[in-house]
Amino acid sequence: MNVNQSAPPVPPFGQPQPVYPGYHQSSYGGQPGPAAPPTSYGTYNGPGPGYQQTPPLGMSRAPPSTGAPPTSTAQAPCGQAAYGQLGQGDIQNGPSSSTVPTQRLPGSQPFGSPLAPAVSQPAALQHYGPPPTSAQVTAQLAGMQISGAMAPAPPSAGLGYGPPTLLASASGSFSNSGPYGSYPQGQAPPVSQAQGHPGVQPPQRSAPPLASNFTSPTSGGPRMPSMTGSLPPGQGFGAPPMSQPNHVSSPPQALPPGTQMTGPQGPPPPMHSLQQPGYQLQQNGSFGPGRGPQPNYGTPYSGAPTFGSQPGPPQPLPPKRLDPDAIPSPIQVIEDDRNNRGSEPFVTGVRGQVPPLVTTNFLVKDQGNASPRYIRCTSYNIPCTSDMAKQAQVPLAAVIKPLAKLPPEEASPYVVDHGESGPLRCNRCKAYMCPFMQFIEGGRRFQCCFCSCVNDVPPQYFQHLDHTGRRVDAYDRPELSLGSYEFLATVDYCKNNKFPSPPAFIFMIDVSYNAIRTGLVRLLCEELKSLLDYLPREGGAEESAIHVGFVTYNKVLHFYNVKSSLAQPQMMVVSDVADMFVPLLDGFLVNVNESRAVITSLLDQIPEIFADTRETETVFAPVIQAGMEALKAAECAGKLFLFHTSLPIAEAPGKLKNRDDRKLINTDKEKTLFQPQTGVYQTLAKECVAQGCCVDLFLFPNQYVDVATLSVVPQLTGGSVYKYACFQVENDQERFLSDLRRDVQKIVGFDAVMRVRTSTGIRAVDFFGAFYMSNTTDVELAGLDANKTVTVEFKHDDRLNEESGALLQCALLYTSCAGQRRLRIHNLALNCCTQLADLYRNCETDTLINYMAKFAYRGVLNSPVKTVRDTLITQCAQILACYRKNCASPSSAGQLILPECMKLLPVYLNCVLKSDVLQPGAEVTTDDRAYVRQLVTSMDVAETNVFFYPRLLPLTKSPIESTTEPPAVRASEERLSNGDIYLLENGLNLFLWVGASVQQGVVQSLFNVPSFSQITTGLSVLPILDNPLSKKVRGLIDSLRAQRARYMKLTVVKQEDKLEMLFKNFLVEDKSLSGGESYVDFLCHMHKEIRQLLS
Ligand SMILES: [Zn+2]
Repeated sequence: MNVNQSAPPVPPFGQPQPVYPGYHQSSYGGQPGPAAPPTSYGTYNGPGPGYQQTPPLGMSRAPPSTGAPPTSTAQAPCGQAAYGQLGQGDIQNGPSSSTVPTQRLPGSQPFGSPLAPAVSQPAALQHYGPPPTSAQVTAQLAGMQISGAMAPAPPSAGLGYGPPTLLASASGSFSNSGPYGSYPQGQAPPVSQAQGHPGVQPPQRSAPPLASNFTSPTSGGPRMPSMTGSLPPGQGFGAPPMSQPNHVSSPPQALPPGTQMTGPQGPPPPMHSLQQPGYQLQQNGSFGPGRGPQPNYGTPYSGAPTFGSQPGPPQPLPPKRLDPDAIPSPIQVIEDDRNNRGSEPFVTGVRGQVPPLVTTNFLVKDQGNASPRYIRCTSYNIPCTSDMAKQAQVPLAAVIKPLAKLPPEEASPYVVDHGESGPLRCNRCKAYMCPFMQFIEGGRRFQCCFCSCVNDVPPQYFQHLDHTGRRVDAYDRPELSLGSYEFLATVDYCKNNKFPSPPAFIFMIDVSYNAIRTGLVRLLCEELKSLLDYLPREGGAEESAIHVGFVTYNKVLHFYNVKSSLAQPQMMVVSDVADMFVPLLDGFLVNVNESRAVITSLLDQIPEIFADTRETETVFAPVIQAGMEALKAAECAGKLFLFHTSLPIAEAPGKLKNRDDRKLINTDKEKTLFQPQTGVYQTLAKECVAQGCCVDLFLFPNQYVDVATLSVVPQLTGGSVYKYACFQVENDQERFLSDLRRDVQKIVGFDAVMRVRTSTGIRAVDFFGAFYMSNTTDVELAGLDANKTVTVEFKHDDRLNEESGALLQCALLYTSCAGQRRLRIHNLALNCCTQLADLYRNCETDTLINYMAKFAYRGVLNSPVKTVRDTLITQCAQILACYRKNCASPSSAGQLILPECMKLLPVYLNCVLKSDVLQPGAEVTTDDRAYVRQLVTSMDVAETNVFFYPRLLPLTKSPIESTTEPPAVRASEERLSNGDIYLLENGLNLFLWVGASVQQGVVQSLFNVPSFSQITTGLSVLPILDNPLSKKVRGLIDSLRAQRARYMKLTVVKQEDKLEMLFKNFLVEDKSLSGGESYVDFLCHMHKEIRQLLS
């Protein structure tokens, strides 16, 4: 075999090893970059009525004074009818197309002319010029050089950009213009810490306040059910069902239902039962009115320490209502896990271990299984038979984030180079060499752990075995000792058996009236000038290998030649949008440093060229088509960055009509709101995927743009969609620029294929995420970034074996940012069980919710939303009923008993049920729903966790000098004290709620106004004041933003203000305005469902 190049001396590889240097996190997206600004505006546009219907936050926009273009659609833009009022007839997008003969564009002919345009009125051309329907290629003036003399070299295939010649021209020189001037070089931008691990420090745990009367004085900690001593004889699962090494074990929950309970007197409930004041129902003898706390009541969440903001004892509750403090608290579960599991590293050597929660900050040591940062499972113990699995109804799924970013303390996967022979694989199932392969016959053969096939070990890979049967070099080889690693791929793994070229980025900018008017184009061009210095690069590379190209468009497309030898960029207009082609190859995709002067000139000129545009119509599909064709011509993979403002109504493929119709909500046709209105985009996406062309879409809509349709290509190509409704530079630039910077710099694997292999007995049957599949096994991703996850569901196809367990191997083949073809392998071994209790003991609710949300969000494409909701409820009830029937000790049906690992399932599921997609409030637009739907599709477990159950942090309860994040409180209005201030975040939105009785001093310190009434409601940026409170709050906001993949807009909400309605949507334990049940009510509902199933 090919012997090793160099050896990073990192344990556990103390000696030279087949490791490829490089691929260091820091070098890959982690280079110094533009910092996310500390304050900002912007919004994920989801918000409420105040947001959608009126210009938010006091923004004002006057209608265009002169000759403003008419809107092309009837809808009022962003709360204003201004556009619609303009005379339709006044504006032209160009003369009627019928007046000009159609010219077909053969490869060469009209091509020769583009640069020697016969047209002498170029600038006007694109707006009022000759009819655009015909294929025409023209050069454009507007400050650009018309290169009549410089006929382009005939486009030779594949020549579009040759091997990058690395000129040091302006290399490293940092443009001082633009916001980057002040970024400290060498300092990692916040983007690098944005994902993967929340980075949350465990909150200070304060002493629990006196609990309400149902707290047992002896409840010191988690108790096992068996400790009650009341387990009835003959119970099937004698072992304490909840005790297990891997999970925080606190007792299962037995909850008083909200309904009258009758039934024979039975033994005292073996599970912990909660009692509450005001709850006066008899519980099969074990609870009586006035009965004292249960002796075995070890619940960690009653009167929990994190309820610090709740002044005094719980308010008297109406009879028959559950006490919110008596039902499982997400906050308490999160805090317990942090306390119990945050201090020790999670070592992956043991099969079937349940990792700490995603909300816990912990380190991972890879000892043979993939880190939970890469793979999380709904259960780490799988039923042996499909019958058991069907009985339990617990989905068996893995949420896989193949390129997840690791914290700096954890080593990135080693890259193994096996030279020309390539990675070693099983001959039959093609699984890659991994720690679970069994070497036999003295090391001459190995038995595949996935399919049991016996394979020969190639001579160059031979090694002796030690007395335990393990290869003596096992610890020197990542693929024999680690859960995650990479192989360098050979040419066999490359398209057309050719090593790939480095990828390219193409920036495609809408320059229609709306984009110009809002200042977007100017802002973007200015930003790009400096951002191009931060393209992803690998290893210690001096500069990025990625080439860049530029296109602007409205209803026609403008390509730019930015070849380094040019004095000025050249524009070529393509108006034959029906049959898109790329008018130039040479000079379109260029090295940034080589062409810096020309690019800078171009970016300076674009806003000027289109400054007076009146063109309101846009095309969309042809833009993507053009980018994809350009990559194809250059024979490389890459990414398109599209900046788009409006519904594409111009005559072209993919033309859309406004079909928004809120009346469809709650009808059988509601699903059509989520479906694309034409098949054009799916077809286009398929072509993009074949080319490795990933599309990231930045939307700046003033009105309905049909996100459901426009996001099809980003969704199927592994891209991202960002949406900035009613974009205004002054309000939204920080958010947009922050997102853009992260997006441009982030780690991306291109032209990727992911395959999940499993050991005999189970197989991957279903997939959720942003990707394309042309068969049933291969997940194709034109691009895959560090945040994107693929959720995979497994089903049995045979019986599993407790002894051998179940194995997963995720293999991702991709092209790195430098153009290197690699395979990333993640392995995970799971346990298998013959007792259902083992399944329930090793579940992870956060992952379960991630799966269920994605399942439901896909379901709305095909089924009425109500059906989808009912399906979720039924499945949840079945899961819990099966536990109750098979695993819990016998007790009255009047008790709701939840498995410890799933005690938050009801509260979290309720959050999914009342989310905007499944139960929208009146203020949620169709586009918002489509947007959220596709966002959630590729979220990881941490993201879905906080998205569905937001974090609510009291700001003035903890000491001002405390540097840790304040302990969160439950997302309910009851937890808000009107004398306090709270931050609420869900990964997309950020609110600062101010109680009406907050001390004046606090108001002054934070807002620089003397009283509550003078605080501007809807404020999106806090004044920068030199006092400890202001610094602390602003620091906390920065830190929350740094933890999330997207920039969160801040909105200041005052108690009793009308904006508070919007804020209250995020208090997910409460009843929602759209009819969503409160947590307490939902728990009762769930209990009823379970009892029906059991009876
Ligand atoms: Zn095999």
